[in-house]
Amino acid sequence: MSQKLEKLIDKKGLRLDGRKLDELRSIKIEVGALSNADGSAYIQQGKNKILAAVYGPKELHPKHLALPDRMVLRCRYHMAPFSVQERKSPAPSRREIELSKVIREALEPSIFIEYYPRTSIDLFIEVLQADGGTRCASITAASLALADAGIPMRDLVASCAAGKVDDTIVLDLMDTEDKVGTADVPVALMPNLNAITLLQMDGILTLEEFEKAVNLALEGCRKIYTMQKETLKAKYIGVKEVEE
Ligand code: ADP
Repeated sequence: MSQKLEKLIDKKGLRLDGRKLDELRSIKIEVGALSNADGSAYIQQGKNKILAAVYGPKELHPKHLALPDRMVLRCRYHMAPFSVQERKSPAPSRREIELSKVIREALEPSIFIEYYPRTSIDLFIEVLQADGGTRCASITAASLALADAGIPMRDLVASCAAGKVDDTIVLDLMDTEDKVGTADVPVALMPNLNAITLLQMDGILTLEEFEKAVNLALEGCRKIYTMQKETLKAKYIGVKEVEE
């Protein structure tokens, strides 16, 4: 869909949902939402509703896939048939297979995979409702699910996109902005280590616009990181984060 419908940014500089250019959608995160998984998290980011569940580390089946010096992280990103307006086929699409890989690669650097040779971690992501930027929200939730499962990690991974709509760089695109806008730059960051684990670009940007979009997305990741830490601490320590 690429009709130029209406202006996506009004005269006051506000977006369709009333947000400022550098404002994230409202985010609600819950850790340990599922009792049967080893670790889990649920995120609502704007209209996105996503569950992440982790099993492991456990013995890997089939055994020939096991690696002698590290664990294998397996990831399945899946959108429920009712997650979008037109029923989506429940069978894995090319897009879901690609996103499963991208999400796995964004999370793997944060895990001490060498601690658990010959084992696997299975990560399941279910998008219950999609509204743009689901890969980023999935990474944010999945990283918390891994932490909730007690897996040793170097850092959390926080993720957020920036993009271009109406010739302006904005933070955290929702579905309409993603589709009608001209570029989308998803980024994932390990904020404490200042290491980027995902950087993609869909669309065309000048070098200056690209730098601006990456920096804006990184700022978004840092804000999300604060929320991730608060959520974990609220569950595991029972106190809110003290100002650093
Ligand atoms: P991301 O969700 O990470 O932004 P995409 O850019 O591929 O990934 O998708 C953008 C948005 O398009 C999704 O968040 C979702 O709202 C919508 N979308 C994706 N797949 C479908 C589909 N099969 N039917 C309708 N909408 C879809």
